[in-house]
Amino acid sequence: MMLYRVDKIKSLPDRYAPEDLLPLDGTGLSVSRAGHRLRKAALQALIAMDAAARSDRVTLLVSSSYRSYDYQVEVWDRGVKADGEAETAASVARPGHSQHQLGTAIDFGSITDAFADTKAARWLESNAERFGFSLSYPKGMASITGYKWESWHYRYIGKPAAALVGRYFGGIQQYFLAFLEGL
Ligand SMILES: [Zn+2]
Repeated sequence: MMLYRVDKIKSLPDRYAPEDLLPLDGTGLSVSRAGHRLRKAALQALIAMDAAARSDRVTLLVSSSYRSYDYQVEVWDRGVKADGEAETAASVARPGHSQHQLGTAIDFGSITDAFADTKAARWLESNAERFGFSLSYPKGMASITGYKWESWHYRYIGKPAAALVGRYFGGIQQYFLAFLEGL
């Protein structure tokens, strides 16, 4: 699943849940709350990236991580009840369609457009790739990715893949994942 395409069109296999989720609590990472979880490889990469950021005096706050299928159903149903389906679909992924269900996606900081102007966002822009993380929803690519720019949302795809995305796919993860599917 590390390089599985999941977006507004393609969902994860029914009720997919990773088997190697680990808690972020107790790791020393900066977290928005207790209970965050990530897959082992993503967590190890995040710990290494966090150490590098700290040595540059940058704090990477983890605000969102793994989201289970059931949790997505809850958020979706609540949204539809309050605002209707069309409005909910604009801001919330349908259950089974979120990169966060992979256990390898992370939202940093405020999860708002203001994040783009922070030191952390700029640091991630220049450094995430060498730790295997890739910005999933770059600026101006909504017609390709299905999402407007999310300066805070990174997906761990591993160092070789992240390097390929940067070097041969213009930093557009979506192109790379679609390319892999066609092989
Ligand atoms: Zn996200």
